[in-house]
Amino acid sequence: MPAKLIFPGVYALGLGPVNAFLIEDGSALTLIDTGYGKDDVKILAAVQALGRSPSDIKNIVVTHCHPDHAGGLAALKKQTGASAWMSLADAEVVRGKVAINRSTPSRGLMQQIMYRLFIAGSSGIVDKAGIEHEIADGDVLPFGGGLRAIAAPGHSAGQMAFMLERDGGLLFAADACSNMGGLSLSIVYDDHAQGRRTLAALAKLMFAAVCFGHGPALSGANARKFNQKWEA
Ligand SMILES: [Zn+2]
Repeated sequence: MPAKLIFPGVYALGLGPVNAFLIEDGSALTLIDTGYGKDDVKILAAVQALGRSPSDIKNIVVTHCHPDHAGGLAALKKQTGASAWMSLADAEVVRGKVAINRSTPSRGLMQQIMYRLFIAGSSGIVDKAGIEHEIADGDVLPFGGGLRAIAAPGHSAGQMAFMLERDGGLLFAADACSNMGGLSLSIVYDDHAQGRRTLAALAKLMFAAVCFGHGPALSGANARKFNQKWEA
């Protein structure tokens, strides 16, 4: 699947049920999320389709520890030599030092069906990988002109959202919610009440576009749907 430009210098890589993103920084690329364990192949094919090479990926930022976001990290690190960035809480899961939290499905028929199809039978275990950089709330990572980390717990304990602070702002909402078939709660949360508080906090932010782990990005007037849907 080809890379889709969703914001100046930012591409969405559709990997089937989940997205990853590439941020251009001159000759370097920053990858946000890594798909499932075998999605390294699709991600590197998309990089090559852009006329770039795997070694252009210098940094990989992972929003949270779930297998559809962190699954490709170990394989991609080997093939690119990139450094990895994650929150401490979720880094410890990917390092294999802490067991993954047990998450529970959201209310709603669709969420229950998706939970049974995609999550209930999964071990949640990802190939172990080293994480060189631990991200804390408020850190501004030196990618794309400044990528501000926003703690977004609830879906996982250490999930991070990010704001690219230029051109009106691009919010990477990760799995704070989903946009599969419209904005909705994610299929699972470790802590549902905390997930709601995270969404209410993100809904106070202004941005020109917002993108998700699951489903298409929203921009322009459509981006305001996010604020309206989740305002407390
Ligand atoms: Zn997740």
